Amino acid sequence: SNAARVAGRHFLQIPGPTPVPDRILRAMDMPTIDHRGPEFQKLGKRVLEGMKSVFKTANPVIIYPASGTGAWEAALANVLSPGDKVLMFETGHFATLWKNMAIKLGLHPEFIASDWRIGADAAAIEARLREDKNHDIKAVCVVHNETSTGCISLIPEVRKAIDAAGHPALLLVDTISSLASIDFRHDEWGVDVTVSGSQKGLMLPPGLSFNALSPKALAAAKKSTMPKLFWSWEEMLPHNEKGYFPYTPGTNLLYGLAEAIDMLHEEGLDNVFARHDRHAEATRRAVRAWGLEVLCRDPKYYSSSLTAVLMPEGHDADAFREKTLNHFDMSLGTGLTKLSGRVFRIGHLGDTNDLTILGALSGVEMGLSVAGVPHRKGGVQAAMDYLTDCARGTLSAA
Ligand code: PLP
Repeated sequence: SNAARVAGRHFLQIPGPTPVPDRILRAMDMPTIDHRGPEFQKLGKRVLEGMKSVFKTANPVIIYPASGTGAWEAALANVLSPGDKVLMFETGHFATLWKNMAIKLGLHPEFIASDWRIGADAAAIEARLREDKNHDIKAVCVVHNETSTGCISLIPEVRKAIDAAGHPALLLVDTISSLASIDFRHDEWGVDVTVSGSQKGLMLPPGLSFNALSPKALAAAKKSTMPKLFWSWEEMLPHNEKGYFPYTPGTNLLYGLAEAIDMLHEEGLDNVFARHDRHAEATRRAVRAWGLEVLCRDPKYYSSSLTAVLMPEGHDADAFREKTLNHFDMSLGTGLTKLSGRVFRIGHLGDTNDLTILGALSGVEMGLSVAGVPHRKGGVQAAMDYLTDCARGTLSAA
């Protein structure tokens, strides 16, 4: 349409940034306060403590005024030293970016190759660690939810693999598109550094990112010789202990974060995860009913925060995405690098309910027709049937 105004809410169905709830927008609509004053101290303590409950950790959580990429860099820069070997798994585009960052920082990543259709293979990690008799590998880095493919990695299996190999490597995990959407347990799962960001499951605008630490990570930080200041936990922690930051924090985003933490606990984290499981299952049922294929090729690795859908041969995912944007005011995720044009991604994370996901799936089904993509009808009906059964209590999320 060429109208100057589009009515109603834009459907932001990319796998992050996600729609920001009104409650969070209002919580951020505040005068910026003195970040060295007593009022800020209360806010600082509240969010630093509150984020521990989201990561499920009793250890410190660091909050950076930065996007997720910054928290990736912080994780590597605080526990490693130039020349260190790290083992990474090629789950997709984001694992590849983290690996390329490691190279730029002077680390030596070893990348276990994969076809971008599954999560990290714990057996392959264990086999590689067993070969590393001298313990040259200092860290294993895994993306919990690979946002480019819609595949999760099973972190408890990766932990078991490291332990079974009797290897002392640190475990670094990226939860940028899984935290507060898919169950994650920093302490219980023995993760040393968890990386995350504000703009996905936490329902905030972009601009904050996180490192959750372990005692082993803190010990490694003491020996790290990687140059750093902005990212340095040692610079940050003494200030955080008093509720402050060593430099200007993202004050208004922190107001939003405090509200987001309250909202997650009001719903209950387990209910939040179950809701994401339900919307993911509804989406996969729609995809199958359309006769299309989910990119993730093993149900064990299905993501509950997004679904990547393969386009039929000879059809361009971006041409279809453009039609859904122009006609239905909905943004879907594009295919990244290797998957460019071949997949589109449906985000179903953050502040989503049964009717928003059905609205999104309706937009996809109509968009497929408008773009002339061969498919069967009935995807939305399949999703609706499933969500109706869930509401009646006859089915729980698969
Ligand atoms: N890791 C994952 C899994 C992501 O999904 C993203 C962004 O989408 C990033 C890292 C990079 O984060 P940012 O774009 O916030 O810097």
